[in-house]
Amino acid sequence: MSIPFIDLQTQRARLGSALEDAILKVVRSGAWVMGPEIAEFESALASFGEAPHALSCGSGTEALILPLMAWDIGPGDAVFCPAFTFAATAEAIALAGATPVFVDIRPDTYNIDPGSLESAIRAVEQQARLRPRAIIAVDLFGQPADYPTITRVAHAHSLKLIADSAQSFGCTLDGRHPIHWADATATSFFPAKPLGCYGDGGAVLTKDAVLNERLVSLRVHGQAVASDLAGQDLAFEAKYLNMRVGMNARMDTIQAAILLQKLTIFADEIIARNRVADRYGEHLGGLVGVPAVIDGGLSVWAQYTIETSDRDALANALRAEGIPTAAYYPAPLHLQPPYRDFPRSPGGLPVTEAKAAVVLSLPMHPYLTPQIQDAITDAIKANIRS
Ligand SMILES: *Cc1c(COP(=O)(O)O)cnc(C)c1O
Repeated sequence: MSIPFIDLQTQRARLGSALEDAILKVVRSGAWVMGPEIAEFESALASFGEAPHALSCGSGTEALILPLMAWDIGPGDAVFCPAFTFAATAEAIALAGATPVFVDIRPDTYNIDPGSLESAIRAVEQQARLRPRAIIAVDLFGQPADYPTITRVAHAHSLKLIADSAQSFGCTLDGRHPIHWADATATSFFPAKPLGCYGDGGAVLTKDAVLNERLVSLRVHGQAVASDLAGQDLAFEAKYLNMRVGMNARMDTIQAAILLQKLTIFADEIIARNRVADRYGEHLGGLVGVPAVIDGGLSVWAQYTIETSDRDALANALRAEGIPTAAYYPAPLHLQPPYRDFPRSPGGLPVTEAKAAVVLSLPMHPYLTPQIQDAITDAIKANIRS
């Protein structure tokens, strides 16, 4: 028996010829760059995510960089983020020229600890070497960060708030998507994410039309947009007028066409993911540490992550039985070579460091059958030393 960690082929078969026809339509149309599916997808995504605006881009990493660029966040600026996350969260800050300041996480949800955040901000304010500008709250493993509390901190210190929902598009807290609180939500459509495409892709959701227009410009080399052109009498095409330093961050039309198809089943898949998570919890609760979701939160379960002190032995035993697992994240960012000299919250990151040694993510996707799940949980029961 070979069990996939994430099964994307069952989903592909479910979408069937509609998906393949959508791809072929783009191929035949010739509108490979910024074709009509892009705007169509952006409006479908905005409506699913309950945001006034959604802008597609080339990756989740770009989706994090674009709002930082739009707010002119760069050298001399501090942006607060957890270290228990994928590298792109801090990388985007460093690429913008700003300084990531690492903050600890809560032991129950793995998301930013508002207390550690508050002390990090105060420390930066007191040192007065860097200007505090923004917070990137990560919605790790599928579930929302504590947005009501983080938003209070952001407002108290006049900071922008980005939700890094790369793993968690579709998650809610008290029925609301992270963009209800955040100034921008960044997400990724890398194939392994809950809503994935067939390559790289990302999106930025915003509430603010001015910010969205700035992102539209930055996505295509800072080209002039409507507000730049007001009252101007140009002697050449507006797209050749560059108003700011941007980049090429476009999503491919083919990816938008694929995502339009995948969005039609995404709500149903979120339900299925929660069914799988519940079943894991029933079988493993009390035996290993099982994940907790924040009160009022709905997770999209990018990962189902258990905790055991015997992590590596269990992973090896499961691998021998054909059951793949993964340790997210075995090396927190603040201990990695490119990031270890950046500032940290004054109390250090003890929770982050402790969790890195014990977390183990199990196969998780909407098409995991009860039979296979039982084989996985039986193997865990047989191999756990408690
Ligand atoms: C995947 C991921 C990203 C980056 O997305 P890409 O599309 O791979 O660039 C950013 N943040 C988090 C938390 C992620 O998991």
